Amino acid sequence: MQRWLAGLMAAGVALAGCGGSDDDGTADGSSGRIEVVASFYPVAEAAERVGGEEVEVSNLTPAGTEPHDLELTADQVDRLEDADLVIYLGRGFQPAVEAALERRDGPTLDLLEEIEVGEGAIEALEAEERGEEAGGADDEHAGEEIDPHFWLNPRLLSQAAEVVKIEMAALAPAAEATFDANLAAYQKQLADLDGEFETALAGCARQEIVTSHAAFFYLADRYALTQVPIAGLSPESEPDAQRIADLTTLIKDRGITTVFYETLVAPDVARTLAREAGATAAVLDPIEGLSEDDLTAGKDYSAVMRQNLAAMKAALACP
Ligand SMILES: [Zn+2]
Repeated sequence: MQRWLAGLMAAGVALAGCGGSDDDGTADGSSGRIEVVASFYPVAEAAERVGGEEVEVSNLTPAGTEPHDLELTADQVDRLEDADLVIYLGRGFQPAVEAALERRDGPTLDLLEEIEVGEGAIEALEAEERGEEAGGADDEHAGEEIDPHFWLNPRLLSQAAEVVKIEMAALAPAAEATFDANLAAYQKQLADLDGEFETALAGCARQEIVTSHAAFFYLADRYALTQVPIAGLSPESEPDAQRIADLTTLIKDRGITTVFYETLVAPDVARTLAREAGATAAVLDPIEGLSEDDLTAGKDYSAVMRQNLAAMKAALACP
């Protein structure tokens, strides 16, 4: 993964000629804050932490909704056109956002593009398919669709935050020292989280995490776990009966105790599989968004990741 550092360092170069997005009267000229639109939660969090007081971040995906199939309001489309910076994930992660961005000329940051996650993700998908022991991997998108869920590896979110900082500093050079300090604090928090995961997940009795959609590759890759997804990269993909039968056998053979489902997607398939295989269904949150309750409770990415860690430690019988 270190190879994408080169891409990271190049990310700040593409901003020349982006001026004028504040001249349409929509920005609050008196505050001088950069207006950033982020397309879903983890990206919004990174932008807020790095930008701090200098930046006004709005998140297109409402709390408690699943980002893949986001529909935009007319207001949001306007905001996408007028913002000083738009941060999103391309490659079909949120098609409505990409469609709206076709009408924008200001700076945009596609994190999947800038951090060059694509090539590695394709290799990863292919390797996962080859190594899959449940058999019958039926994801018709294998090898062409990109796994977008990089933020589930805290190191990759940390690198994304660095790209965000470079873009913000290009828009507001006077604030660069502030952005640098904010970035350092956020990266320290993510590094601590990464260390906790590494320690806690070493020496577990099992390595397989059975998940409802294939969102956890980067997490599994980082901590030497094996993701066994019930369905494909999109929460809408449905497993067929053969896949369920194969997974039931795998779960019984390996003594897997837990089938994970997500917070923002109906848990029916995971619950059915758990029942058939004699396992328990439990939450593993892909942090595609936080719920209203999470936000009210002051939770953030790191807090939900720690909930995930506790769930995995129990499921994998870690020391
Ligand atoms: Zn997803």
